[in-house]
Amino acid sequence: MYTLSNNIKIPKIGFGTWQIPPGEIAYKSVLDAIKVGYKHIDTAYAYENEQSVGKAIKDSGVNRDELFITSKLPSHIKDYEGTVKHFNLTMENLGLEYLDLYLIHAPWPWDEIGKDCSQGNVLAWKAMIEFFKAGKIRAIGVSNFNKEEIENIVKHTNFVPHVNQIQFHIGHTQNETVSYCNKHNIFIEAYSPLGTGRVLKNETVIEMAKKYNVTPAQLSIRYCLEKNTAPLPKTTSKDRMIENMNVDFKINVEDIKILDEL
Ligand code: NDP
Repeated sequence: MYTLSNNIKIPKIGFGTWQIPPGEIAYKSVLDAIKVGYKHIDTAYAYENEQSVGKAIKDSGVNRDELFITSKLPSHIKDYEGTVKHFNLTMENLGLEYLDLYLIHAPWPWDEIGKDCSQGNVLAWKAMIEFFKAGKIRAIGVSNFNKEEIENIVKHTNFVPHVNQIQFHIGHTQNETVSYCNKHNIFIEAYSPLGTGRVLKNETVIEMAKKYNVTPAQLSIRYCLEKNTAPLPKTTSKDRMIENMNVDFKINVEDIKILDEL
C-alpha cells in the first residue's frame, strides 16, 4: 500500500480497464483480476464498462472496504452541474455507495487537446470537493494535468488534489510534472505502465528483463514501483494478470539509470 496525503491507503498496483469491452469480457476480466488478488480497479465513465466492472465487484464476494475503486469524470464535462450529473451516473453504473478515488479525466476534452478549460476545471473541481467532503469519495484528483493546470484549480479552491494519474512508463517519465507533484504531496498513478504494449518490444528492456529472470512486463511494472508510482497494467488474460502482480524484485541503481535514459 501507498498512503495518500489524506492518509487513505491505496494498493500499489491497480488493474486498468481501458479498452476492455463492456459486457462479458469486462465482467470476466475484473472478476478474474479480483480473484487473483488485485484490490485496486481503475475504470472511467468514458470506458463504457462501469456497469460490468460494478457487477464483477459485487459478484467477487470481496468486502467493499478491501477494494479500492477509481473512476473518472469525462474529459468534456467542464461545469458544476455536469460534474454532479456524471458522478451520479458513475455511481449508478458501478452500483456502489462510495468511490475510493474520482479523477477529472483530462484538463481538456480528448477531441480538443490543449484547449484552455481553466474555468471549467475549477467548476468541476468544486463539485468534486463537495462530494469528497460529503464522504461520497475518499480521495479526489486529476489526470493528465500539468503543473499550471494543477496550480489553476488549487489557486481557486485552496484544495490540492490527492492524486495525478499520468502516462508514466519506461521512456516516458514526465519528470517536470512528477517533481512538481512530489513536492506538493500529490501522488502519481502511472497509466499505460507498459506503454500500451510498446515498451515490451524495446530491446534494452527485453535484454534487462532476461538478466533479472523476469518478463519485460514485470520489469516495466517494477520500474514504476521503484519510482514510487502506482502502475495500472491492463490485460484480459488471467495468466498475465498474475504475471503483472508478481514483481517482488529490485532493479539496481545502475539499471534504473539506463531505463531512465530510454
Ligand atoms: P498498458 O500499458 O497496461 O498495456 C496494455 C497492453 O499490454 C495490452 O495490449 C495488453 O494485452 C498487453 N499486456 C498486458 N500485460 C502483458 C504481459 N504481461 N505480457 C505481454 N503483454 C501484456 O496499457 P493501457 O494503455 O491500457 O494502460 C493501463 C491502464 O491505465 C488503462 O487500462 C487505464 O485504466 C489507465 N489509463 C488511463 C488513462 C487516462 O487518461 N487517465 C489513459 C490510458 C490508460 P492483453 O490485454 O491482450 O493482455
